[in-house]
Amino acid sequence: MANITLKAVRKSFGSFEVIKGIDLEIRKGEFMVFVGPSGCGKSTLLRLISGLEEITSGDLMFDDARVNNVIPSERGIAMVFQSYVLYPHMKVYDNLAFGMKLGKRDKSEIDTRVRKAAEMLQIDHLLDRLPRQLSGGQRQRVAIGRAIVRDPRVFLFDEPLSNLDAALRVATRLEIAKPHHDMNDVTMIYVTHDQVEAMTLADRICVLRDGVVEQVGTPAELYEKPNSVFVAGFIGSPK
Ligand code: ADP
Ligand code: MG
Repeated sequence: MANITLKAVRKSFGSFEVIKGIDLEIRKGEFMVFVGPSGCGKSTLLRLISGLEEITSGDLMFDDARVNNVIPSERGIAMVFQSYVLYPHMKVYDNLAFGMKLGKRDKSEIDTRVRKAAEMLQIDHLLDRLPRQLSGGQRQRVAIGRAIVRDPRVFLFDEPLSNLDAALRVATRLEIAKPHHDMNDVTMIYVTHDQVEAMTLADRICVLRDGVVEQVGTPAELYEKPNSVFVAGFIGSPK
């Protein structure tokens, strides 16, 4: 069953059209990776799915419900951005708990969730530290943890590793794949520039070009049968 369906989705900023009619189904539990050149609309697409931006026309469906006008906090989505924004004055524990405190959960449930997420991401020994006392990779794991504790149905990642160095990128990539393995039916939508990241993480890759979908398929399908030179340039040959 499709978890997220985009039907003829368009988005303009003023008279400037950025998303130019996208039809796409993202399945429940799928790890979908978006790739495409800078400026092609990847971040905008994530913002439309999360509800941070309103779509100009078309339909956005979660399961069978149209969510065009549903506010972000009601969509059951968590986003992790490239520049992780942790609260500098709060310990790791409180950074993790913060998003849940805004909702209506009791203290012991919050505590259980924080500790479970911290364990999953191997940051359970860092709960008493402040963000400035962490490495870049540890901070990024806290940012991911903050998404996990909210138990979202859908994770959106916008180039979450591009600020990390190569070795840390590989290690943190594994952490990112974890919730997908450990949480039932969680759907991941992940934007990256990095071909290796796309090939290793994705169930399917969606190649975007100038606001439209150029091709969607498994890494093997795109690698073996790119339907254009453009796709081959992105997937078929290492950059
Ligand atoms: P990508 O993430 O693929 O690099 P973006 O989705 O960030 O691309 O941007 C796609 C295009 O939309 C770019 O030309 C960008 O300048 C433009 N854009 C994005 N957000 C806005 C905005 N709020 N107002 C005007 N133009 C925007
Ligand atoms: Mg972007």
